[in-house]
Amino acid sequence: MRVIAIDGPAGSGKSTVARRLADRLGLGYLDTGAMYRAVTFAALRRGIDPADADDVAKLVRSVDVEVGRDEVMVDGVDASIEIRGPEVTRAVSIVAANPEVRTELVRRQREWVGARGGGVLEGRDIGTVVFPDADLKVYLTASPDVRAARRSQEAIDLDYDVVAADLARRDALDAGRRDSPLAQADDALVVDTSAMSVDEIVDDLVERLP
Ligand code: C5P
Repeated sequence: MRVIAIDGPAGSGKSTVARRLADRLGLGYLDTGAMYRAVTFAALRRGIDPADADDVAKLVRSVDVEVGRDEVMVDGVDASIEIRGPEVTRAVSIVAANPEVRTELVRRQREWVGARGGGVLEGRDIGTVVFPDADLKVYLTASPDVRAARRSQEAIDLDYDVVAADLARRDALDAGRRDSPLAQADDALVVDTSAMSVDEIVDDLVERLP
């Protein structure tokens, strides 16, 4: 079983690198951020206040979330586009700070890996909490400018300043929360992706694999 953990803040290049690496190695790819977004989407859709810890805890135990390579289904509804939208992005860090949400989603992430015998997982706490014994742990970073520029290029209607402010707000919430904060594992390989191409990064990671 081979498990690769790719962590880092939004816009650090995690998704692109993790997908490419998974393809190179013939492993499955799991975007754990999409799972937190899916639960947030379900809460908003059912009229549950994302800050209501008890209601959200009840929801996470029953909600059906299918995160595929390119699409995300929530209780049978295709939510692939909406989970990336501004409402979900605004509320996701509050939902992700809920310990009961984390317990349930971490359980599902481990189950996903167990069923496939390995995989490449991207998130915030994969190397620190979900798979502390991963075969390779990578922490991607990039300068705040580069991260905001990447995110605002992903959609035409995103303004650079709005994106930069949103990233800074989410970084502070994700790094400052009590349960499983965004952090570098002591034994993670830290890669600054600001001035590197995806191919360079992936080649480097493949060489370092045990
Ligand atoms: O990766 P992405 O930006 O889509 O993640 C959305 C949010 O989900 C993050 O801002 C963070 O609050 C949460 N998250 C998390 N733990 C993970 C992955 C994502 O708390 N492993």
